[in-house]
Amino acid sequence: MAGKQFLCGVCNQPEKMCNCIKYCALCQSDYGVRLTEDGQFYCSDCREACDYKTQDTA
Ligand SMILES: [Zn+2]
Ligand SMILES: [Zn+2]
Repeated sequence: MAGKQFLCGVCNQPEKMCNCIKYCALCQSDYGVRLTEDGQFYCSDCREACDYKTQDTA
């Protein structure tokens, strides 16, 4: 199942196209924020803690 696009839950665009203000859904940090499969953005610490994958590591 390769090629699944992660889409921003707000604008429904892939991460590259998304112009939303990005911050972590858990801690509101904007450090290293990336889109994950659930359509929300998480900072690097929260992604690591919760084992969320970005598009390119999934
Ligand atoms: Zn967006
Ligand atoms: Zn966070």
